[in-house]
Amino acid sequence: MPGGTFDLADVLDLSMDDHKETGVSDQAKVLIEGMHCDHCEVTVGAALTEAGLSDVSVDWRRGEAVGIADAGFSAQDASDEVAKLGYSVTSIDTTESTETEEAGGSDDDYDLLIVGSGSAAFAAAIKARDLGARVAMIERSTIGGTCVNIGCVPSKALLRAAESYWRAGHSPFAGLETSAGAVDLKALVEQKRGLVNQLRQEKYADLLELYDIEFIEGDATFVDENTVDIGGRQLKAFRFLVATGAEPWMPPIEGLGDVDYLSSTEALELEEVPDEMIVVGANAIGLELGQLFTHLGAKVTFVESRSRRSLRSSTSTSFRRELRSTPGPWLRKPGQIRAGCGSTSRQTAPPPGWKPTDS
Ligand SMILES: Cc1cc2nc3c(=O)[nH]c(=O)nc-3n(C[C@H](O)[C@H](O)[C@H](O)COP(=O)(O)OP(=O)(O)OC[C@H]3O[C@@H](n4cnc5c(N)ncnc54)[C@H](O)[C@@H]3O)c2cc1C
Repeated sequence: MPGGTFDLADVLDLSMDDHKETGVSDQAKVLIEGMHCDHCEVTVGAALTEAGLSDVSVDWRRGEAVGIADAGFSAQDASDEVAKLGYSVTSIDTTESTETEEAGGSDDDYDLLIVGSGSAAFAAAIKARDLGARVAMIERSTIGGTCVNIGCVPSKALLRAAESYWRAGHSPFAGLETSAGAVDLKALVEQKRGLVNQLRQEKYADLLELYDIEFIEGDATFVDENTVDIGGRQLKAFRFLVATGAEPWMPPIEGLGDVDYLSSTEALELEEVPDEMIVVGANAIGLELGQLFTHLGAKVTFVESRSRRSLRSSTSTSFRRELRSTPGPWLRKPGQIRAGCGSTSRQTAPPPGWKPTDS
């Protein structure tokens, strides 16, 4: 939302004053020392749940956790469980909360039903659970969506590895000769898959239980404004969030359908470095992929219909500087080749059927 922040509770109207029954319960606030990452939040949350705290929300930056103290909750058990993980509980405050909203006051199956299970879906689900809502998410493919499976995580993992390889063979220091060995892209991609699996489990799948978010596998379609259908099963909700992300789009280039082209998803799964690669589209993802394969030894050419100036406004300064410092990739417009990082400039024919959208 330009120019300000927004509160998901307001956006989704999850206050649901007339939607929920009320009750009284003890709210516990636990101060913890030693947490330093998201993973700490997950393990501490599980330990506190074990000690009888429900609806636990842990914030490692603030060094605190809050939750509802169930009948069997014991401050000593909580301290002991957390201490077993190497953190230290410095205080536990339990207060009888005013009125706690509890689910169940309507005929809806959920307060919030989210279509998709990517980063947007998880951010919304966690916030909604913090507000006491009954939440489920529906996913037709792999939990975690784009970022962890086929986007930010695999691309950055491979980029970093390729940069390291490229630096090994390109010493910037006079008198220091370095060399890089062969590239086994199959092994590298295998290692990347391992990282993706690990992060998908830790950053997404494990959070379902921790935050008590229901996960429903299937393809969601809307039946009416209160109901979705997932393979014949119909579910109602007070609010819906459509967090279905985006998919690779193929430009209408004549003949494209007749060739074995790659989208970013397939390019990140290649097990051999191609000798040459044409990257159609020189914006963030295209530039990243081109840089990755350049660093691994491929001859990469970018084809881009927009002007350099227009590209400049949509890529970061540091990213452009980094690209300029990498010898190799060419930036071509239809009808022209412009040297990306060297000084050569020559004419070439545009790819068959290419139609620039602007200049
Ligand atoms: C190669 C690459 C690199 C990237 N690098 C970065 C980066 O460095 N930094 C960055 O900020 N962003 C990056 N992005 C973009 C980022 O990954 C996405 O913007 C982000 O993941 C979108 O998250 P989302 O939750 O909105 O949707 P997604 O993560 O796409 O999740 C949507 C989910 O909805 C599911 N779905 C769709 N329709 C239905 C349906 N009808 N029923 C059930 N489920 C459905 C899909 O299967 C999918 O899992 C990159 C993307 C790519 C492709």
